[in-house]
Amino acid sequence: MNKQDRQGKLVVISGFSGVGKGTAVRRLVEDFDHYAVSTSMTTRKPREGEIDGVHYYFVTNEEFEKMIREGGLLEHAGYVDHYYGTPKAFVDEMREKGIDVILEIEVQGAMQIKERFPDAVLIFITAPSAAEMVKRLIGRKTETDAEITGRLRRAIDEAELMKKYDYVVVNDGIDDCVRELDRIIVDGTGGMPFYPAFKEKYITDLRRIIQERLSKKSK
Ligand code: 5GP
Repeated sequence: MNKQDRQGKLVVISGFSGVGKGTAVRRLVEDFDHYAVSTSMTTRKPREGEIDGVHYYFVTNEEFEKMIREGGLLEHAGYVDHYYGTPKAFVDEMREKGIDVILEIEVQGAMQIKERFPDAVLIFITAPSAAEMVKRLIGRKTETDAEITGRLRRAIDEAELMKKYDYVVVNDGIDDCVRELDRIIVDGTGGMPFYPAFKEKYITDLRRIIQERLSKKSK
């Protein structure tokens, strides 16, 4: 086996807010022994319960910019006033050992990875419908009303970029979703191809839901 055969894959998972990405990634690592998840670096402040080195490496702007200058990040992006990036060393180390590394990152970072690593597998996770996504977002009770609306607006932009991903996975139940993700990563089967009608309907529904939320608020 040559070196390339032993190298672990680079897997990017993105998706709309509230579609269960975090749970799916956690389950992949728990259920299979050939995955590792990269811990990102960020300049945003930790939320309650978040641990430095576990959920993120929390750093200052200066530290983050130094990391960029020194070439220590595989990709980085600005998201709502803060930097987020993927430390290179961990990813290289795991891949050398033949472990597939998962990056749970937003779309700008995903595009940088695709350009730098054309073999990376890019997967976009979506809810079955915009209505279902909103139901889950409201149900998890971690965002205010305004934040939910903000995330729905952002989802419209993200939906436009869905077509750049290699696979789209509909999370219609976590067990099936995790099995499907593993199949895609291992042998490229599973997922649905991107099709414009799904995206168009999703965006139309998101716009309608945002409008309804705003008009309800102003009443
Ligand atoms: P949050 O602040 O909610 O933890 O994350 C905000 C967004 O940043 C999410 O979409 C998350 O996937 C993304 N993100 C987290 N880590 C990284 C990273 O290392 N690089 C990029 N490009 N995005 C990241």
